[in-house]
Amino acid sequence: MSSSVRKVYEALNWASSFLKEYGRDANAGELLLQHVLQMSRSQLFASLRDELSGDAFTAFEKAVKQHAEGMPIQYIIGSEEFYGRTFLVNEEVLIPRPETEELVYHTLRKIQSMFPKDKEVHVVDVGTGSGAIAITMKLEEPRLQVTATDIASPSLQVARRNAQALEADVQFIQGDLLKPFIEAGQQFDVLLSNPPYIPDADRMEMSEVVTEHEPHRALFAGMDGLDFYRRFMEELPSVMSIPGLIGFEVGAGQGERVAELLRGAFSQAEVSVEYDINGKDRMVF
Ligand code: GLN
Repeated sequence: MSSSVRKVYEALNWASSFLKEYGRDANAGELLLQHVLQMSRSQLFASLRDELSGDAFTAFEKAVKQHAEGMPIQYIIGSEEFYGRTFLVNEEVLIPRPETEELVYHTLRKIQSMFPKDKEVHVVDVGTGSGAIAITMKLEEPRLQVTATDIASPSLQVARRNAQALEADVQFIQGDLLKPFIEAGQQFDVLLSNPPYIPDADRMEMSEVVTEHEPHRALFAGMDGLDFYRRFMEELPSVMSIPGLIGFEVGAGQGERVAELLRGAFSQAEVSVEYDINGKDRMVF
């Protein structure tokens, strides 16, 4: 950034042309400067003619360059919004997506119609990452008893910090898929998961913003992307109470195949594929 840039609006103009050169969204500079100055959007726009301090100037330049080189904004600013709350994220966890808010929304509605109001409903979120699903479920419906697992302890650290910051009473357990519960003989009324589901081969076509920064253990799942669903089918029957509800996020085009797997594991089950607001098959219940 040129040393003649000293005002907020000059810094924003510099960022916008710099980011454009790298093919990034030119408006990302606003979010990054809001973060550096710890200001809301309206505060930032009220300060356009103010001078930037030397420190702010340096921090902003660094953030803009990181994003130009492909670092997702959420990892730079260290958070993402999910269901109206702020979740801390780092490169150990997938950045929560709006599609996953739809999984939470539909599940909450289904729980209401499936279980009596006074029943203690036990929910588990498998592969919780940042904890977004588990923590949101607990905060939206406090009567739920929520457990969350992840195979990776660095992810669980992020999830625990989020639960603490948002004051959500969620129990965290480290483990591979459902192993800890099978060993303990524990059962659940509701199981939710947004497992890795991207076919390995799709990596080539994906944005490097995703593939170079988000954890591959949270994204890729074998030749057809269905590895984790297949593993779930072996373990699910021993941990689900009946009646019970299973809700999976799936990749676009996988809905029917995951539904088939569920019918194979639970022959009596009522299985439905549901679509996200973009019209893509995104959830299987
Ligand atoms: N929805 C994520 C993406 O498209 C993938 C998440 C997942 O594999 N569970 O990047």
